[in-house]
Amino acid sequence: MKIDEIIEIRRKHRANIPGKHHEAYRVNWDKAIEGKSLRACVKSKCLDCMNWLASEVKACSCAACPLFEVRPYVKHPKRRQSRKTPPDVTPNKPTAHVE
Ligand code: SF4
Repeated sequence: MKIDEIIEIRRKHRANIPGKHHEAYRVNWDKAIEGKSLRACVKSKCLDCMNWLASEVKACSCAACPLFEVRPYVKHPKRRQSRKTPPDVTPNKPTAHVE
């Protein structure tokens, strides 16, 4: 695919971003397309997937999707907890020496 074709596809896609917050969504989409933010990429992909409806992203039930655990508009307690959990500092138990 030629670069001109890619640019044209992206221009059309951007122009068709609908929704109440379309300008904010377009700005986020620009950030994603320019490779400036992985978070913007995930947000744009999820919004695009759910026809640009944040409420649908929040209600997404596609647990098999690789983005499910990082999709926007949802608090992910498991992920936050794992960031805060300190490393396990319990000393290793001595093991019996077997010959
Ligand atoms: S997590 Fe849900 S909304 Fe996001 S891309 Fe996957 S299926 Fe779509």
